[in-house]
Amino acid sequence: MLAISSELPISNCQLIKSLVITEDEARRQILDKVRPLDKRAVLLAGALECFAAEDYFARLPLPAFDNSAMDGYAVVASSCKKGGRLHLIGEQPAGPDRKLRVRDGEAVRIFTGAMLPQGADAIVMQEDVTRGGVEITLNADVDAGDFVRRRGCDLAEGQMILAKGERIRASTVALLASQGFSEVIVGGKATAAVISTGDELVKPGEQLQPGQIYDSNSVLLNALLLRCGATATAVEHCRDDRQSLGDAIKRGIKNHVLIISGGVSVGEHDLVKEALSQLGAKIEIWRVAVKPGKPFLFGKIGDSFVFGLPGNPVSAFVTFLQFVRPAILRMMGATDLDLPQVPATLAVELTNDGDRPHYIRGRLENEKFTPIGRQESHALFGLSQANALLRVGAGQSLKADEIVSVQIWD
Ligand code: AMP
Ligand code: MG
Repeated sequence: MLAISSELPISNCQLIKSLVITEDEARRQILDKVRPLDKRAVLLAGALECFAAEDYFARLPLPAFDNSAMDGYAVVASSCKKGGRLHLIGEQPAGPDRKLRVRDGEAVRIFTGAMLPQGADAIVMQEDVTRGGVEITLNADVDAGDFVRRRGCDLAEGQMILAKGERIRASTVALLASQGFSEVIVGGKATAAVISTGDELVKPGEQLQPGQIYDSNSVLLNALLLRCGATATAVEHCRDDRQSLGDAIKRGIKNHVLIISGGVSVGEHDLVKEALSQLGAKIEIWRVAVKPGKPFLFGKIGDSFVFGLPGNPVSAFVTFLQFVRPAILRMMGATDLDLPQVPATLAVELTNDGDRPHYIRGRLENEKFTPIGRQESHALFGLSQANALLRVGAGQSLKADEIVSVQIWD
């Protein structure tokens, strides 16, 4: 029988246990270390998924002038009634200002977006008119303001159009362009390297030998980085040996962020922590009380932040979203670092008997959240069917039909 003396130094196992921190603590430590990168000016075409580094205000009202919402005729509403006739005095297309003036009993042929001629206060759409030479007959009643887009009705001059830290979307670049901005000042672009470790990994497209699997984390992490607006400058596979790992890390730390998948757990082939330490990395976090994803690692080596994600695909996915994504967003100047949360009715009863919060993968449809697939960290198919995560706290029980808050990423 093996006797364990109380005088023995603290065991590895105890040491490891004492290092496990909570998710909140991990996030706090990470966000404490990570700073926004220098801002830069980019052309609108390259601004998508960047974050504004300044507040922007409208230089122009929208619309900038009263104009027609229809192809039709500009008229004085008080001089119009159904069946009445109007005399055509000219044409106002979009673009040039023809400086026309409409009086009672007159009409100007007008097109969508064209300036409203002086005196006109309504547009009759061409479908409501019978045209005969230089005369039109009205087939509908006309009210002042009909089909007129008033100056400033959409946006007033000076109104804020984009706040510092806001994500730039397709509609944002369109709005900036409508204001005459050709470029925008945004936060810096985070660059990242991805290293997928594992002797068992084979590149998709190549031949598998017994016991081997295809590397899916490389493309997963590349895709998640793109979704954050970051650039993956290098994505490489690395075998589980100290030399290759050390070399790959040296290449990877030329980036703001280095993400290493696999090899961060406690097995003999999990060499990431050791390789990082040998290169002088400061390991700030190793192991977080979260399921899946407990062996998560965070540290700094040179100027690069290193994230070690467990190799199981669902663990890599969950830890990326919970810890890497907010860090990258902060670097890029984002204000909102959290995944969007939406309320949902839980379809089934759920209990977490474990001692770590569990991120349940599920499908959010018609405001109902239904867990989907095997809730195990290797179960990639279930993850592929899911579009939302539900965090169930340690020891927490949730009833069917309860309203819960779920995180969405798509
Ligand atoms: P590890 O974290 O290296 O112990 O790996 C845990 C599990 O994840 C193992 O079953 C690995 O085969 C698997 N795994 C590791 N890396 C990848 C990867 N890049 N793609 C798919 N599965 C992986
Ligand atoms: Mg491995």
